[in-house]
Amino acid sequence: MSPTTRETRASRNRRLAITEAVRRNLVNEEQPVVGLLDLDGVTDTARELQEAFTFPGVSVLHTFAVKAASLVPVLQHLSRAGIGAEVASPGELAIARAAGVPASHTVLDSPAKTRAELTEALSAGIAINADNPEELARIDLLMDRAATASPIGIRINPQVGAGSIGAMSTATATSKFGIGLRDEGAEDWIVDAYTRRPWLNRLHTHTGSQGVPLDLMAQGVAAVHALAERINRAVGRRQVTVLDIGGGLPVNFASDEVRPTFGDYARTLRNTVPALFDGNYGIVTEFGRSIAAKHGLVLARVEYAKSTGGRAIAVTHAGAQVATRTVFAPDAWPLRVEALNASGALKDGPLVPQDVAGPCCFAGDLIAHERPLPLLKQGDLVALLDTGAYYFSTHFAYNSLPRPSVHGYTTNSDGSLHFTTLRKAQTIKELIVESGG
Ligand SMILES: *Cc1c(COP(=O)(O)O)cnc(C)c1O
Repeated sequence: MSPTTRETRASRNRRLAITEAVRRNLVNEEQPVVGLLDLDGVTDTARELQEAFTFPGVSVLHTFAVKAASLVPVLQHLSRAGIGAEVASPGELAIARAAGVPASHTVLDSPAKTRAELTEALSAGIAINADNPEELARIDLLMDRAATASPIGIRINPQVGAGSIGAMSTATATSKFGIGLRDEGAEDWIVDAYTRRPWLNRLHTHTGSQGVPLDLMAQGVAAVHALAERINRAVGRRQVTVLDIGGGLPVNFASDEVRPTFGDYARTLRNTVPALFDGNYGIVTEFGRSIAAKHGLVLARVEYAKSTGGRAIAVTHAGAQVATRTVFAPDAWPLRVEALNASGALKDGPLVPQDVAGPCCFAGDLIAHERPLPLLKQGDLVALLDTGAYYFSTHFAYNSLPRPSVHGYTTNSDGSLHFTTLRKAQTIKELIVESGG
């Protein structure tokens, strides 16, 4: 599909989904904010990923970073498309298992794995990437107790440097993740660790999420590939058989254009590390944002419109609870906001700089600051675009605001839409229970 066809289709589907969601009363007095996810779009992106990483003789397992959209039906949907799960907490592992993701398609990367978590993964045969020497020592003890089918690797921090967002950069000199490859003596320590443990058969790296340029990501993968070659030479056999190259493909939040593409990244990898796809290693990927972000949106009612100090302010129901990063780090995570009328159609009229505020009780709860938009008024709607990953599924419980419902949609052959519930809204009763009541 050509980029422009895809962009047109993305925006047409979005228009239709919004007006249909309004017509079906999915946004209402009790549920003034909802998430919408284009499941066909997710399937198409999964297919593009699979095609971009198809190389003769190379076995590739794509996993989805569950933290990007931690919803059981989304994981089921991806699993049907052949995409597994990368999990980073006991909760995420439970969600992946509830979705029926096979153990062989699951990778456990929790930064702070407990003994119980490691034991569960080893007994299920789920792949584990150890973060540090102390974790590896725990795995040693567990391995002595029972046999396991789990592939096991070590997470390497190639220390290639930061991207444009510090909090998303995992390959800095002092990042909290993995073993720093360039620290004095580290590489020898790692080679020795593999020599002593014939069951260590993977290497893992994840160089960053959003803001890390493709060539920096590829340099991280190149460092890990070179390390695998060195280990295999040292032990005299192909002990490391799989390289887990992580996720981190950045997403364009400025327009409907998908840029960079998985194809761009695969080409960059092939140019930087030509031997990566020569068939000597299986590949695991762990993309999150780039699979789901562009297919989701948050739709919220404008409860009030007002003006203070000459500033037009729309008070909406979408704020820090569904767009946490955008509210707390607005320069790193700007979102496109659409101004819609009560039936979900794009508003027109002169553009007026407006603050689009959320429902949380702190002054900084703004989705957009002085954004030129047609003037919003009470009863209108706003759509926050590209929020299919790390937004409605990554709720922040401030002000006891409930988790909103999330609706998935697919397009029928006649062009009409079919909606399914991906998550029900949290009820006030559930909220009381969650709050100790
Ligand atoms: C968050 C994370 C990912 C996914 O990152 P995206 O930027 O969403 O692709 C993959 N692997 C690990 C280890 C992560 O922490």
